[in-house]
Amino acid sequence: HAKSLGRAGYCFFEPSMNANAREQLRLLHDLRSAVANNEFELYYQPKFEAPAGPVTGAEALLRWHHPERGLVPPAQFIPMAEKTGLILTIDAWVINEACRQLRAWCDAGHSSWNMAVNLSALQFQHAGLVDLVRDALTRHGVAPERLTLEITESIAMRDAEASMDVLNRLVALGVSISIDDFGTGYSSLMYLKRLPATELKIDQGFVSQLEHDGDDAAIISAIVALGHKLGLNIVAEGVETPEQQDFLTRLGCNSLQGFLLGHPLPAAQFVTANAHIHEAAA
Ligand code: C2E
Ligand code: MG
Ligand code: MG
Ligand code: MG
Repeated sequence: HAKSLGRAGYCFFEPSMNANAREQLRLLHDLRSAVANNEFELYYQPKFEAPAGPVTGAEALLRWHHPERGLVPPAQFIPMAEKTGLILTIDAWVINEACRQLRAWCDAGHSSWNMAVNLSALQFQHAGLVDLVRDALTRHGVAPERLTLEITESIAMRDAEASMDVLNRLVALGVSISIDDFGTGYSSLMYLKRLPATELKIDQGFVSQLEHDGDDAAIISAIVALGHKLGLNIVAEGVETPEQQDFLTRLGCNSLQGFLLGHPLPAAQFVTANAHIHEAAA
């Protein structure tokens, strides 16, 4: 068993090893078999036109069904997956699976729903990304306009010139770009102006205390004004209360996402929970 972990075949689980290092090794081992055995599933969280609909689509959120630990959220395994490069295989699966689901929704009559997929830093720097996206769209016969790729502000700004090049090639395919977790990284407004994005997602950190913190409201209001001047759609994430929903709508956010309006759900439940909202408003 330990042999499969190391080229030399020696035992990694030595008592002298600290608990955290052992935990990390176990995670890595389990993650490798998760990739091999396809233990992943996408959950879908609805995005609403403010204040309460229609549903414009969903964000695909990765879940890992660990054989012993149950459902593991991405924050607990994506850092390790990034460190080891396993994220490239996982993200490729995510893009393909999201396109397959888009096709299924389209066939079921939900042809206006958009799908947003999160990209890791590593995938974003990977030379094969544009081909990967193009192939997934073609394989499932999905119109590129249906697909949005979310990259965090920090990833987009890290190597801004290189990012711009990749993003322009993705946009040339016809997919849309959304800047995730906006306000948490170091933004250059010079680059923000040039980024070929169509959407900004205000980080939930600004939303969670909105009713009690005037500074958060001021920041959101400024982001909305800036984003709108740049022609961007503004999404607020992490909306949990009716007060936040109301506030964000009045501040001018175009779309809302959060537990108040809909939790991430497996595909079948997503349709049951959201189809009527879409149809009622369409
Ligand atoms: P994110 O893209 O900013 O996704 C939003 C996160 O906020 C999700 O957590 C979602 O479940 C959670 N959320 C949504 N509404 C609410 C709310 O009202 N309150 C609170 N407290 N949380 C809310 P999740 O699914 O655990 O994902 C965490 C992060 O993991 C994501 O942040 C994204 O950066 C990353 N991630 C998720 N799926 C993927 C994927 O397929 N590939 C990659 N590379 N990263 C992913
Ligand atoms: Mg996201
Ligand atoms: Mg986010
Ligand atoms: Mg986030």
